Amino acid sequence: MRKVSIFGATGSIGQNTIDLIARDPGAYDVVALTGGGNITQLAQDARRLGADIAVTAFEDRLGDLRAALAGSGVQAAAGQAALIEAAARPADWVMSAIVGAAGLAPGIEALKQGATLALANKETLVCAGPLVLETAQRHNARLLPVDSEHSAVFQALVGEDIAAVERVIITASGGAFRDWPLVDLATATVEQASSHPNWNMGQRITIDSASMFNKALEVIETKEYFGVDPANIEVLVHPESTVHALVGFQDGAMMAHLGAPDMRHAIGYALHWPERRDLPVERLDLAKLGQLRFHTPDEARYPALRLAREVMQRGGLSGAIFNAAKERALDHFIGRRIGFLDMADAVAAVLERFEAADGLVDAPLTLDNVQQTDHLTRQWIDETVLQRAG
Ligand code: NDP
Repeated sequence: MRKVSIFGATGSIGQNTIDLIARDPGAYDVVALTGGGNITQLAQDARRLGADIAVTAFEDRLGDLRAALAGSGVQAAAGQAALIEAAARPADWVMSAIVGAAGLAPGIEALKQGATLALANKETLVCAGPLVLETAQRHNARLLPVDSEHSAVFQALVGEDIAAVERVIITASGGAFRDWPLVDLATATVEQASSHPNWNMGQRITIDSASMFNKALEVIETKEYFGVDPANIEVLVHPESTVHALVGFQDGAMMAHLGAPDMRHAIGYALHWPERRDLPVERLDLAKLGQLRFHTPDEARYPALRLAREVMQRGGLSGAIFNAAKERALDHFIGRRIGFLDMADAVAAVLERFEAADGLVDAPLTLDNVQQTDHLTRQWIDETVLQRAG
C-alpha cells in the first residue's frame, strides 16, 4: 500500500484528492491529514480514511479536534510544530494543498524525507523556488506539479528536450471580471470577485483569479519549476478554460494540453504518475464546445502580471515579498478595508519600500529569511493600508 499524506485536506484541492483516494480503497495507507478551522471535515475524513494522525494548524482548536476524533484511534495534534512533525512522517506521496505561504515549511520537510511532493501550493515555488528545488535534489525527492497549467506543461514535455523549448504559454480564464469595463473594477465587491466563471475553487484563489494575482504567481512558478527564461513565458486569456497550457518548440510545433476544468485531472496525474489511470473527469466534446478563443491580457486591467515580471527580474527574496504582500492585501480586501484595485497598488508600494531598504531583498534564500521577510512584508502592507485609510 502507498503511504500518503494530505496537507490542506479540508480545502478544495484536499477534498478532490480525498475523492480520488477514497475511490480506491485498499490502495492507500493514509498517514496524515491536515486542515485549519474546519475540524468537522478533518475529523470525518481522518476517521473514514483511517489516518494515523490529523492535525489542525490552529492550536486553539486542539480540544475540538480531540473531541471530534474520540474513540477513533486517530491521533490529534495542532499548531505549526505539529504540521512539521506530520510532514516528517514517512510517506511515499504527499499532497501540498495548504493555501498560502503556510504551505512552504511542511512541503520542505516532506521533501527532506525523500517523499514525492504533489505541489498544488504554488506559493512554495514563488517564495523559495531555488531552495525548494535544491532540497528536493539533495534528498532525492520528486516534485510533481498539480496546478493545472503546470501539470499541462509537464505533460506536454514528456519525452521532449527542455533545450528545444522556445516558449511556454499558460492560459487564464480572465476570472470574474473578464468582461467588466475597467472603470467598474474599483468598486468590485468581495462577493463579485468570489465567483469564478469556469472553475470551482477556494475563495482566495478565486479572487486571485479575478485580479490575475493567481496567474502572476503561476508565471513565477513556471520560471522556477521548468527553468524557462521569463521572456519566453506568455499568458493568454482563454475564456473556455479548456486549453490549460501550450509549449512551443524550436521547430515551430506547439503541444497543447486540453481537459475539462476539473482539478481531479491534474491531481490524479500526479497521484498515478508516471502511469495514466482512468479518472472520473468529464471527457471533452470539442464539437459541442465549437470554439476556443484566446487573447492577450491587458496589463492596465491586470497590473499583477507586470509586477510578476519585475519580481522575476529582481530575484532574491522578492518572490516571498510579492506573495506575502499579495496575501495580506487580499486579507484586507476580504475584510473590506481596501478596494479591489488597491490590492495591486499596495503590493507595488511594499515592493518599492523593500527595494529602498538596503540589502533586505538580497539576503540569502533560507527558510528562516523567507519566513522573516514574509512577516515584515505583512506588517508593511498593514501600515500601507492604514496610512491610505487615514
Ligand atoms: P482552500 O482555501 O480551499 O483550502 C486551503 C486548505 O489550507 C484548507 O485545508 C485549510 O483549512 C488549510 N489552511 C488554511 N489556513 C491554513 C494555515 N494557516 N495553516 C495550515 N493550513 C491552513 O484552498 P484551495 O484548495 O483552493 O488551494 C490550496 C492551494 O492549491 C493553494 O496554494 C492554491 O493556490 C492551490 N491551487 C488550488 C486550485 C484549486 O482549484 N482550488 C488549483 C490550483 C492550485 P480549513 O479549510 O480547515 O481552514
